[in-house]
Amino acid sequence: MDLGLKGRWALVCASSKGLGRGCAEALAAEGVNLVLNARGAEALEATAAALRQAHPGLEIRCVAGDISHPAVQAAALAAAPQIDILVNNAGGPPPGDFRDWEREHWLAALEANMLTPIALIKAVVDGMAARGFGRVVNITSGAVKAPIDTLGLSNGARSGLTGFVAGLARQARLAAANVTINNLLPGAFDTERLGKTMVASAERSGQPLEQVRQQRAQGIPARRFGTAAEFGAVCAMLCSAQAGYLTGQNILLDGGAYPGTF
Ligand code: NAP
Repeated sequence: MDLGLKGRWALVCASSKGLGRGCAEALAAEGVNLVLNARGAEALEATAAALRQAHPGLEIRCVAGDISHPAVQAAALAAAPQIDILVNNAGGPPPGDFRDWEREHWLAALEANMLTPIALIKAVVDGMAARGFGRVVNITSGAVKAPIDTLGLSNGARSGLTGFVAGLARQARLAAANVTINNLLPGAFDTERLGKTMVASAERSGQPLEQVRQQRAQGIPARRFGTAAEFGAVCAMLCSAQAGYLTGQNILLDGGAYPGTF
């Protein structure tokens, strides 16, 4: 299916690696021009070079820096003639015990995983509505539906974003203007981040890494981890011209790991 996105512009935050890169690749395959972002300029430029090589007809621009900094947000927004598609993403907060977290830990998590997406949404949605097309996809986490105790900072900050978006997506001035806002909730995806958490868990338990990986995968009905390409494909589908009636939803992508009916 042609997703009807050729010539559109997307800002994909935190996209040099992992799920963000998967989204950027899938959108590029649909003919979308891109603004890419990540803190590390080297990996960011390498991803941009790979995308330019694969899609020579597209404009691929890079803005290096922490997306939670207002100056980086402004530069990323200014790098495209207009933003038709916004994919919000950033690194997840660290795991731990809430007894060890101080106010500054909470503020950092809220800044990266709630307030930054809200600031970027605020900057783009009214322009999208005026042009009659807009797609916002927030990469959150399966932990929004099934909280993970050690990821309290993530559970809290992402749930705040989810509650806010649930209201905003239903504003008629956006929904009636073909502007949709949805959240994509990853379960376990085979990215650098997941690899690091498994190395840490292998070190803690003294088990071989491969055993830890297999045990974790066995806990998922699909018996495997998801791939960034699969994640990106669903993101592109949510951004498609055809998905204009799909808004305010939380889409779990987890190989069946979430055990509930709803
Ligand atoms: P990843 O493989 O570690 O990739 C993260 C990407 O984001 C990198 O390109 C990184 O580049 C960039 N980044 C991180 N913090 C940034 C910031 N503040 N500003 C700009 N760029 C930033 O991670 P991932 O697995 O794709 O995860 C993406 C998001 O999904 C995270 O929030 C994660 O918590 C969430 N998630 C992932 C999984 C999973 O199984 N993978 C499951 C649930 C939720 P730099 O480091 O150079 O900035």
